[in-house]
Amino acid sequence: MKNRENDLLELDGAQGEGGGQVLRTALTLSMITATPFRIERIRAGRGKPGLLRQHLASVRAAAEISGATVEGDEIGSSTLRFAPGRIRGGHYRFAIGTAGSCALVLQTVLPALWFADSPSHVAVSGGTHNKAAPPAEFLIRTWQPLLAAMGVRQVIELKRHGFYPAGGGELVASVMPTRALQRMSLTDRGVLQALKAEALLAGLPEGIAHRELERVTARMTGIEVSARDIPANEGPGNVLLIETAHANVTEIFTSFGERGVTSEAVADRAIDCARSYLHGPAAVSEHLADQLLLPMALAGGGEFTTASPSSHLQTNAETIRKFLPVEISIDEMADSCVRVGIA
Ligand code: ATP
Repeated sequence: MKNRENDLLELDGAQGEGGGQVLRTALTLSMITATPFRIERIRAGRGKPGLLRQHLASVRAAAEISGATVEGDEIGSSTLRFAPGRIRGGHYRFAIGTAGSCALVLQTVLPALWFADSPSHVAVSGGTHNKAAPPAEFLIRTWQPLLAAMGVRQVIELKRHGFYPAGGGELVASVMPTRALQRMSLTDRGVLQALKAEALLAGLPEGIAHRELERVTARMTGIEVSARDIPANEGPGNVLLIETAHANVTEIFTSFGERGVTSEAVADRAIDCARSYLHGPAAVSEHLADQLLLPMALAGGGEFTTASPSSHLQTNAETIRKFLPVEISIDEMADSCVRVGIA
């Protein structure tokens, strides 16, 4: 990997879909490649542009683990300058301060800690089940096993649930340093081993979970369903998780209970995504696709198939190409599926 300590990489946060991922990927790769960067127009494509608490927490967390010098790290800031030092393992505790996603903060710092000089223990408090972010179960049951297959030694645990808008949840991760990652090919998901749906309820009437699960069994055959009560003080919140475990990859499709939306309509959102994945040939879902790019790029190569390249995936690919000497190709295949190759 190139060390570009003296070059300042200029990034445009409005690039592609203009969301927070440009910043998060830049922070991660800046630390790993020791490349300082300056980013303008942060999250220019979003309704509330600039740094929100979750992004600021990612910046501060990255700064702490890499001893970085930072300018512009304030709420609402649309420009940031970040110059990392050496990545140090250790005990870290980061608080988002709102229901902002703990998963997105962890996904920013963990890849850097994979290459630290010593083991780490990281606790992040905030939201653990957020609408536009991987829920804790996705990190633990979908993302982590694939990383383990690539040689990452990390364990993530959900300590306490945190839903929007209350937050107050906690995720912790233990990481052992890794020398190099191995390439992975994920073009075949393998045989279906289990199909499960779980409705989580915190401080809300039980009928919600029953109605969601009834809808699941009516629309998906051979699925095992269960409801789980979470302590009311970890809510209020309701999430439906549909898990498809194939031999080579486990996917989780999520939808959140919302005021004014029927439980059946909530269930339909996750069911539609799960069914469309199960009926198609692609190995990797839309969300997992953009989250595999960075580890595969760090491994120097890899490949997977997905139904179609999301704008998030394409934006992330653009940012990765700026930091790492990798080629990322997206090729149409038969059966409305694309192959994403990293070399
Ligand atoms: P913002 O600018 O508000 O931070 P963003 O562009 O960074 O937004 P999104 O595009 O909404 O954020 O997604 C952030 C990450 O969360 C992506 O990696 C996306 O794949 C992942 N993600 C979103 N929803 C889910 C989900 N239901 N399951 C798994 N991952 C998800």
